[in-house]
Amino acid sequence: MLSYPEARARVIEQTKKSSRPRATLSKTVNDALGDVLAREIRSDREYPPFHRSTRDGYAVRSSEASPGATLKCTGEIKAGDTVTEPLAPGACIQIMTGAAVPTGADAVVMIEFTARSGDAVTFQRANSPGQNIVQKGSEAHAGDLTLPVGIRLGFAELAAAAQVGAAELLCYRRPRVAILSTGDEIVPIAETPGPFHIRNSNSVSLAAQVRLAGGEPVQLGNALDRVDDLSAKIELGLREDMLVLSGGVSMGKYDLVESVLNTLGAEFYFDAVAIRPGKPAVFGRCRDTFVFGLPGNPVSTMVTFQLFAIPAIDVLGGARPRQLPLLEANLTKTLHEKPGLTHFLPGYFEWTGISPEVHPLRWHGSGDIAALTQSNCFMVVPADRSDIPAGEKVTVLPRLDVI
Ligand code: AMP
Ligand code: MG
Repeated sequence: MLSYPEARARVIEQTKKSSRPRATLSKTVNDALGDVLAREIRSDREYPPFHRSTRDGYAVRSSEASPGATLKCTGEIKAGDTVTEPLAPGACIQIMTGAAVPTGADAVVMIEFTARSGDAVTFQRANSPGQNIVQKGSEAHAGDLTLPVGIRLGFAELAAAAQVGAAELLCYRRPRVAILSTGDEIVPIAETPGPFHIRNSNSVSLAAQVRLAGGEPVQLGNALDRVDDLSAKIELGLREDMLVLSGGVSMGKYDLVESVLNTLGAEFYFDAVAIRPGKPAVFGRCRDTFVFGLPGNPVSTMVTFQLFAIPAIDVLGGARPRQLPLLEANLTKTLHEKPGLTHFLPGYFEWTGISPEVHPLRWHGSGDIAALTQSNCFMVVPADRSDIPAGEKVTVLPRLDVI
């Protein structure tokens, strides 16, 4: 059975072979958070565009501003001022953060290290050429690559685009991800469930996870545990870039997802992963749609989506698959788990200022959505460990939506 890193690697390897063309669309920079860039962006000019002071202080010739020296202040430059006059020998100019350093000056001395009396400024500390100045063009030259194709646009990337004047960005269309729950017991959330019915919460959590990952959810509702209904609804899902099913992948008599996919011509890349919850997770391709069959227990569905479906959305969306953001934290309570599978257990990660800690939460297994609402991470307990004593470090997988 594959380990979860092996299963992830397989998802990445296979989705990279996708044959679907990737459409593009134009987005304003304010509207492109989480999108993937489809046309590179280059720098329109030098950055910074002038020698920029990084401090409030005095622009000087460093050789003239040694400790104890006094120079005459001949003016003031603030951010946005046009600077044409050079710094005269024997003089200094008061300068503000973000302002252009005049020619002749090679350093800015922080105002805190000077004393002023009228026009006379006395310098108190040694200084060196270049200090507190960012040289013109040191961050980027005109024409340099600012953002490559395939980069996912977060706040820093959007700021970089805005800085060089790229107000409209060509982005890849987000992968369309069909969501299909399965189960005779599942009812729409707007309906009153019978005593043995369960509301369709998986379609809601999956759509949220798809959106967070940068995909566009396409809701297909629920299929009954019957070959005809399942086939017909899977067919609808095969129109999209990706199809995520929940439920129907275990060993039960009515777990039909794999066999129906098989009949429809699917090729499978894995149908089990050595994790708990989530062991029966299935990944394959049917025609040119990548398909995940995730176990239906709500926490299993969430964990397996985060582990395996996110990198598929990245690759299908034209982006580099993002890393699993694993952290380490000190366990605050001893854990006992059966060895053999890697366990993902709900926890609360907290940084108290000394070292990161993770508190295990009480839960009743992979159906326990209520316990998950108290969590902000999963603790990852390796397959070969049955006991982890309090105080030991454990790996932590943050929930990407709340941390
Ligand atoms: P399955 O993987 O089909 O064996 O389902 C396992 C468990 O998950 C069962 O208790 C189901 O009732 C529950 N479950 C399956 N699908 C959903 C869903 N869409 N929403 C909430 N719970 C579900
Ligand atoms: Mg079921």
